[in-house]
Order: sequence, then C-alpha cells, then structure tokens
Amino acid sequence: MCGSLKGILGFLPVAVVMADEELTISVKNLCKVWDEEDCMSVDHIAVLKIALRKYICIAAKVHALVGCEILLTEDSIMIRNVGHSFGLHKLPVTGMAVIDMKSIPQYKVLIATTEGKLIEVKVSLGEDEIKFQHDRLTIDLDLKNNMIQGLALSTNGLLGGIVLKTSVYYDHLEKKEPLQFAMFVTKPFEEIYAKLKNVLKPQYSFLNTDSNAITSYTDYLDIIRMNLAAGIPLPDWLTAFTTNAVQNYENSYSTLELYFMRFILHAYVSGLAVGAPKDKANFEAKMREIDALIMRRYISKVINSCKESLDLLSPGQAQSLLLMADWLFKKFDTTLDFLYAAFGCDIPSENETLPARETCGICKQEVKLEDLKVAQCLKGHTFTRCCQSLLLCDVSHFSHCPACKSVVLKDIWNFDPYCTYCGMMTI
Ligand SMILES: [Zn+2]
Ligand SMILES: [Zn+2]
Repeated sequence: MCGSLKGILGFLPVAVVMADEELTISVKNLCKVWDEEDCMSVDHIAVLKIALRKYICIAAKVHALVGCEILLTEDSIMIRNVGHSFGLHKLPVTGMAVIDMKSIPQYKVLIATTEGKLIEVKVSLGEDEIKFQHDRLTIDLDLKNNMIQGLALSTNGLLGGIVLKTSVYYDHLEKKEPLQFAMFVTKPFEEIYAKLKNVLKPQYSFLNTDSNAITSYTDYLDIIRMNLAAGIPLPDWLTAFTTNAVQNYENSYSTLELYFMRFILHAYVSGLAVGAPKDKANFEAKMREIDALIMRRYISKVINSCKESLDLLSPGQAQSLLLMADWLFKKFDTTLDFLYAAFGCDIPSENETLPARETCGICKQEVKLEDLKVAQCLKGHTFTRCCQSLLLCDVSHFSHCPACKSVVLKDIWNFDPYCTYCGMMTI
C-alpha cells in the first residue's frame, strides 16, 4: 500500500523475481483506493491479513481514516468495501498500530493523535462499505507538554510504546530530553490474566509448539515481571500453577507452560519479585528439573532429526550427540544403545564408568559431564556448556541468551537461534 502527500491512496503491485541469480523488480500499475487529490496527506497505513490473500487496509489521512478490503487472486486484485470516517479527534493521527493480530475476526487498530488521545478503532466490513467505530481509551498518559509522535504495540497488544516530543519552546539547559519513549499497559490486569489463563489451559499442552513459542508471549512475561517487581500479587490461579509438579508436563507437547513456570520461579529466586514466597532452595531445584525436562525434549528433537544419517554428522555434532546420550543415561537412566554402537563406543552400565569425552582447552586434562550447564577440568578450569549441543564453550564463536545467560555455540546444530532453556532469541 502507498499514499501520497496530495491524498491519493493506492495499492502498488510489486513483483520480485529471482531468475538466473538475478533479482528483477517490476512495478505494475497503481490501483487507486482513494483517488481524490484532497490535499490530506496519507500519514500512516496499517494492513491486517484477515484470510489467505485477503487483507484490510486502513490509512490515516490527517484526521480521517480511509479503509478497504483487498482480495488478491492469481491474476487480479479486487478492491472493495471502500469507506471512510472522521473520528473523535480534530488533530492529525501521529501513530497507528494493529491491535493483536491473533484476535481476528475482531479487527482493531489503535491510533494516537497530536492532541494526545489514544483511540481504539473497531473495523467491520459492512455490506458495501467498511465501518469504523471509534472508542477513546481512558489511559492517563500524563503527557504534560508533550505530543505523541509515534506508536507501537507489543505482539498481543498488551503493551503500548509511544514516542513523545516536547510541543512547546523549552529551555535546552533545563530540559535534556526533548524526545522520550514511554510505555503503557493497554488493558486492565484482570483482563490480561484472564487471557493468559486461556493460553495456559491444560488442553493446549497437547498442541505441538515450536521451541520459540514463548517469543509470541513476551508481553505477558513483561506484565508478570511488572507486577512482581511492584509487589502486586499474581492471581491465585497463576501462583497455584507454579506449584504444579514438573512431572505433570512430561507427556505434554507444549513447552509453553514450563517456560512460564520457569520465568516466575526465576523472578522469585533472583530477587526481582517483591514479597515472593521464601523457598529459594526449592524453587532453584524446581528450575533445574524444568531445565532437565526441556533439555530432554530438545535432545529427542535433535536425535529424531539425524538418527537416519548419523554417518553424515560433523565431528562436533557427533561429540554433541554422545554427550546428550551420556546425560540422558545419567539423569533419566535411558540408554541409547544404537547411538553408542554407531559411534563405536561402549554402552554405559553405570554412571561412574562414563568416560570423559572432552579435554580442557587450557591444561588438556579430562573434562567429565557432571552438569548440564557448567563443567570443570581436574585442575579446576571452569567452562559453560552450550545449551544446544552440551559441548564446552571454550571458543569465542558463540551467542548468548540475554534472559538466562546460556550460551550457544555457532555452527553445531543451527536449528534455530533460540535458547533451549527459556525460548528467547540468543544474540
Ligand atoms: Zn584445565
Ligand atoms: Zn535463556
């Protein structure tokens, strides 16, 4: 979608084709959605995908909204349901964001205006015209002499971020921050926790989720963090959830609950949570159990991905698999006979006889697999273990998890860039 200063709004098909290693970009004819040169510039555009090849497009033109439905087929573009509205505001829209893409078919966008209003716009497709319903949000942003200059929302629309700019002359010696970034919670906490309860419903445990599923729920984590840090108690059901036994989740496919549980327990033990229950040793032990269960699932994913092609593994991958097999034997008494046989290693019979598979990069002494996360050679040199391969991290070529500080060696498995233990993107 594109708009012009003169006020025209249109759909500009752009085809990007890669042929013979050459990238060609061709721009086709503009399909006009709003073709009046009314001199009301198009300032913001939001696009909602409502079905396969079906979109709603909303554009803010100064203090008006224009919208339409767009249907794409193999060889044509259909624009229909064009409509417009003037809302509760008089001054230009300075920010627009789609609220919770997943709450379709309740299409909603949030707009911010120069006069400092936040307006939720519900969008519905009428018989022949798109309809907008404007509701002003009663969030006190405490703007003082600032204007909103930009708006963004978190994945689930629970947190909003605004860029504020001083709107009056100011003394530059006194005011050091003419531009500020502020955040606000868009919904009452009760409503947010009710949604979270739905996410953590036991029946969802049977849905298979990706290892990065938690990254779609980080705004829920931020709300929990915010409440715990301010000493606001979590709802009873959520506190009770953290007391569930880790074994209850052994057979569920989703790791989401374990990630949430781990997050809250971590807030308890790290001192972030004000007035947290005082049972640090128990919480830490439970976090270790969660880590072990998450690692077990991760290992089965790794083994499933390569058990048919063990002979094609790199030396690092083979070493990693052996460590994984050793750890499963130590922790869960599971013996992966086929793996030891494939690598020509003895099948272990007891923990004590597990050989050291690695040596210290400093003193060349043996390093045994004692713990999932850290390792020590006989002379006491200490290393961190990679959370994706269990290999010792004694080289500098790794990324780390900003949340739990785990490290990931690059170029070993490379399934994804997420931390195994907490599901966050590593950097
Ligand atoms: Zn050493
Ligand atoms: Zn992590």
